[in-house]
Amino acid sequence: MLKLFNDLTGKKEDFVPLEKSKVKMYVCGPTVYDFSHIGHARSYVFFDIMYRYLKFRGFDVTYIQNLTDIDDKIIKRAHEENLTIYELADKYTELYFRDMKKLRALSADYFPRATQHIPDMIEAIKILIQKGFAYESNGNVYFAVDSFQDYGKLSRKPFEELIDSEDSPDKRNPKDFALWKRKKEDEPFWESPWGLGRPGWHIECSVMSTKYLGSTLDIHGGGQDLVFPHHENEIAQTEAYTGKKFVRYWIHNGFLTVNKEKMSKSLKNFFTIQEVLEKRSPENLRCFLISTHYRKPMEFSDENLDHAQNVLEKFFVALEASRNAHLIDNKDYSKSLTEDLKKLIQQTQSEFILAMDDDFNTPLALSHLQTLAREINKITQKGEIVNPEIMEQAHKLLWELGSILGIFLENKEGISDKLVDLILTIRQEARQSKDYALSDKIRDELNKLNLEVKDLPNKTIWYKKI
Ligand SMILES: [Zn+2]
Ligand SMILES: [Zn+2]
Repeated sequence: MLKLFNDLTGKKEDFVPLEKSKVKMYVCGPTVYDFSHIGHARSYVFFDIMYRYLKFRGFDVTYIQNLTDIDDKIIKRAHEENLTIYELADKYTELYFRDMKKLRALSADYFPRATQHIPDMIEAIKILIQKGFAYESNGNVYFAVDSFQDYGKLSRKPFEELIDSEDSPDKRNPKDFALWKRKKEDEPFWESPWGLGRPGWHIECSVMSTKYLGSTLDIHGGGQDLVFPHHENEIAQTEAYTGKKFVRYWIHNGFLTVNKEKMSKSLKNFFTIQEVLEKRSPENLRCFLISTHYRKPMEFSDENLDHAQNVLEKFFVALEASRNAHLIDNKDYSKSLTEDLKKLIQQTQSEFILAMDDDFNTPLALSHLQTLAREINKITQKGEIVNPEIMEQAHKLLWELGSILGIFLENKEGISDKLVDLILTIRQEARQSKDYALSDKIRDELNKLNLEVKDLPNKTIWYKKI
């Protein structure tokens, strides 16, 4: 049974979606005004793994991620870059998709954009006013937090601490937050019943999530910094509007830190995804990101990335060593070693699932895969022979489970891989005829192409160095 830590209740709970085996999932996406940094990558990669795992567990998942393309930061940056807000948003949306592709994150089913849903937002605001949850004031519309009894139930802060960052004499209560903002000079605007203006940030997620997924979502996720005010306000608006429970499971990932400080744009202690991927492979980065449980803070450092790279290389050795096991026709294998490996395969599968079912415990899941890889490497490096079919099963399981974590994503079955195999067969022939000068030359040249060649007692394997 899959269990999730629900920030709404502060407890780990059985995951039971509203409709059997269907999951409606919404994750707050980027504000497309700048490059994404590695702190964002942590969130994107975690929710990508969650999406992959839910599918692996047989759920039919609808996954929506929004793109915030209108807010203060967008307007400011568009002025600076001398672009319209649309040009700016297009530019950074494209860069965001490029980052996601590089990180091998699966695409959401739909990426609604705020500026394409302004009429829906105006409709929702009208209804909130009619129902007495919101009021117009001097061309602005505010949500009256006093009118919503459960305000604060997600962040569980004392009521006096639930203060909106925007101060305005137009508000009845400083805690009230904007649904609609009156047009300021040089700002993009839309027509509305309250005059020219633009929507506040929070209303977009309420409107777009319910438009595509219905009044009640199973999972709503994002980074921890979204709990208050963004998600608190989303709950208030949406539940006031629909009269129904908005989200069954609220899930937030922890911060990424640099020298123990939260990585953020404002502290200027960030690295963009692009910068990191110039030096590190996406698999390396992902392996690092999953090495800590998603709810805990984690420290970004070269040392930690190196550690993840070491873990990854051992996986690659195991995958390569076991890859062509089925081609070995050797009936003379060790029965006891084969039995042990068989047991380990079953154990790895069930323990991986147990770990992931326990609120996506990726570090534990990873350690189970490491145990299997270690065993494969021990067998092959000692030159021991196990039943090739069982070795093949070990290979497949390692590949399949590793792919859920998204750490083995290189396509190893392409034509270039077959060419490397062919070159290594020729090298093997050179070795057999004791032409070591040629066989070393082949190995060195492959090395220059970033391909590591290893001679094990009974075979030669290769893998891509990263
Ligand atoms: Zn949002
Ligand atoms: Zn949200």
